[in-house]
Amino acid sequence: MINVATYYDNLANQGQLHEVPRSDQRDTELVIGQVTKGELKNLYDHQMLPRNKSAREIYDNLRSAAPGGRCPTCGFGHVYTIDHFLPKSAFPFFSVLPENLVPSCRDCNTGKMARAANDAQSFHPYYDVGPLMQEQWIFAEVLRTVPISVRYFVQAPLHWNQLLALRAANHFRDYKIASRFGVEAASELSALIHYFISPPMQPHEIQDTLDRRLRAERQHQCNSWKIALFEALRDCAWFCSLEF
Ligand SMILES: [Zn+2]
Repeated sequence: MINVATYYDNLANQGQLHEVPRSDQRDTELVIGQVTKGELKNLYDHQMLPRNKSAREIYDNLRSAAPGGRCPTCGFGHVYTIDHFLPKSAFPFFSVLPENLVPSCRDCNTGKMARAANDAQSFHPYYDVGPLMQEQWIFAEVLRTVPISVRYFVQAPLHWNQLLALRAANHFRDYKIASRFGVEAASELSALIHYFISPPMQPHEIQDTLDRRLRAERQHQCNSWKIALFEALRDCAWFCSLEF
């Protein structure tokens, strides 16, 4: 198991967890020594989840480690559970490996199945702090719809390699970021419009307000529905001149 942890750590550090072969055996088949696949999977349910087991402390510590109780994968959901980054059904060796257990909101946890079938893994909250927390790759654009809406999209930094860009796209798709961010943006947008039009503000005042909000948000993270929204609105002359 120590070797398994080293193996995982090495691949995760290189963003290569998609290289781990899936375990296609049945639960009753031996996968290492006299241990079956089912026994490895059940380590989590039988030894880590029950409150009377000593490993429960590790589970609780991992779950409460997310700053502010926010899901590290999407940045705005509330932590609800522990997610197996590589699902234990296909990767039973990692069923209780702490590096594979990440605090997660309910919505991100359900993205797991799509992710498992993919050839490039989404970003890992423990290993991909740079892409997740230090560089912006989620942007938005204003759509001239009635009512006004925004569309979120991925734009990988130019210096990222192909794999990193693909992982960003998969992360965005698997966790349904576009639609989930869109829901949050819609209510904020309607409140902002009300604020800007009653009484009507000047374009430069609107831009300044949005810019202040943007800078405040960037104190905490660099990929969020608010950052992409405020930036897109600030840079849209049509919106700031209240021509809609
Ligand atoms: Zn989440």
